[in-house]
Amino acid sequence: MTIRTRVAPSPTGDPHLGTAYIALFNYCFAKQQGGEFVLRIEDTDQVRSTAESEQAIMDSLRWLGLEWDHGPDVGGEFGPYRQSERSDLYKKYAHQLVDDGKAFYCFATSEELDKMREEQMAEGLRPKYDGRGLNHTDDEIKANLAAGKPYVIRMKIPSEGTFKFNDYLRDEIEIPWENVDMQVLLKADGFPTYFLANVVDDHHMQISHIFRGEEWINSAPKLLKLYEDFGWEAPVLGHLPLLRNPDKSKLSKRKNPTSITYYRDAGVLPEALLNYLGRMGYSMPNDAEQFTLEEMIASFDIQRVSLGGPIFDIEKLNWVNAEWLRALSPEELKNKILEWASNSDKLTAIAAAIQPRIELLSDAVNWGGFYFQNLPDINAESFTHKTLTPEQIIEMLQLALWQLEVLPTWSEENIYATLKGLAAHLDIKMRDFMAPFFIAIAGSTSSTPVMNSMAIIGADMTLTRLRHAVDVLGGFGKKKLKKLEKQAAELPDFLAAAE
Ligand code: GLU
Repeated sequence: MTIRTRVAPSPTGDPHLGTAYIALFNYCFAKQQGGEFVLRIEDTDQVRSTAESEQAIMDSLRWLGLEWDHGPDVGGEFGPYRQSERSDLYKKYAHQLVDDGKAFYCFATSEELDKMREEQMAEGLRPKYDGRGLNHTDDEIKANLAAGKPYVIRMKIPSEGTFKFNDYLRDEIEIPWENVDMQVLLKADGFPTYFLANVVDDHHMQISHIFRGEEWINSAPKLLKLYEDFGWEAPVLGHLPLLRNPDKSKLSKRKNPTSITYYRDAGVLPEALLNYLGRMGYSMPNDAEQFTLEEMIASFDIQRVSLGGPIFDIEKLNWVNAEWLRALSPEELKNKILEWASNSDKLTAIAAAIQPRIELLSDAVNWGGFYFQNLPDINAESFTHKTLTPEQIIEMLQLALWQLEVLPTWSEENIYATLKGLAAHLDIKMRDFMAPFFIAIAGSTSSTPVMNSMAIIGADMTLTRLRHAVDVLGGFGKKKLKKLEKQAAELPDFLAAAE
């Protein structure tokens, strides 16, 4: 049997560190045994999936050196490797499960289901699908289908007993069936949910081992039951620990940059980032701290993964990166710097922004320098403003930060709509309102148009600089933060208002 592992990201946002982490361990496991590593794009969420996100995921995994043997762009014998191109397969299998009595139609409308949940909550019960679809008679089903009534297909779940399974990295895991819902497999729009598509694909792509994040443990009963329902042998399954912020919470972009693009732009070497990710819950058999991907593969042993949540600490990463930089010859370092700074699209955008302002090419260093920086060299005094109070400034920066964190697409247009809307809402003149953003992003009020700069340097870099600004301004006490959160929750939708 070929050892075959995969990483299966959903293309719904920035390329996440967690994706690289999971990819690395699956990659090493397969390669250590001469196996294959697959990239599958799980884009069944048609609303949130974007082509840009898919491209960014592929670019960042490649940048790290985690090349796939099969994938959407390179093909492979079990393709296509993009779920949106496999819809017919999922439909066929969903209906097969219905025919075999393992799944059922449900015609309930979302209003009916909302009502069901409300009633359950009113009775103090945990809201849960009540199995109403199981009561349809064959004739009802036929009539509903003939009438074109929208339906979903749900899987049958035992009403009692406990599901037990052996996690490759953990002790036996037990989950009572009563905690498992009758999962929707095929949605009303004809698209599969993660559960159905994931199982059908892992089977058809002949994946032998799956190492996924521990956030999926509670889904394991449904996934493994689907293999049983289909009569397929399940791959070996192991759950890796989740990466955590230094305060032990789940790694999230509210506390730490999570996008691989940020680390690339801040000047982390791909070798160093892989090296650091390779130390997350893992230690080399020879206890080496600095190691290459090849070295990690050569001695890889997945059973050495320790399950306590590994802390992703930027300062430690920077330290590891520094070690890598010091080990280079000056010539090699020069090449790394040139390579790092040579993103052609970004350079063109920067050139366009500084063009009206420079007289000599050498002026480009002063006008363009901040685009390449990590955090600008600023302190609380840098924000001094003739009309805005320090309190106003920190509050508006934080409110903007929260709004920008959830932008569906990072574009100058959306940034503009957000900041303009917020300024008007707070009744601050746009010119005054923008001043602190210049300081936070460019370190100075005499700079290129700041919203354009934010678009160029990208979401994670922008958010990191805004967070840094809030920090240098002293941050918030708990009470203050609560109050501001309340204010934030009441803000209108500036994007919708701008349309
Ligand atoms: N698409 C899922 C994710 O985004 C894949 C999880 C899995 O590996 O099964 O994490």
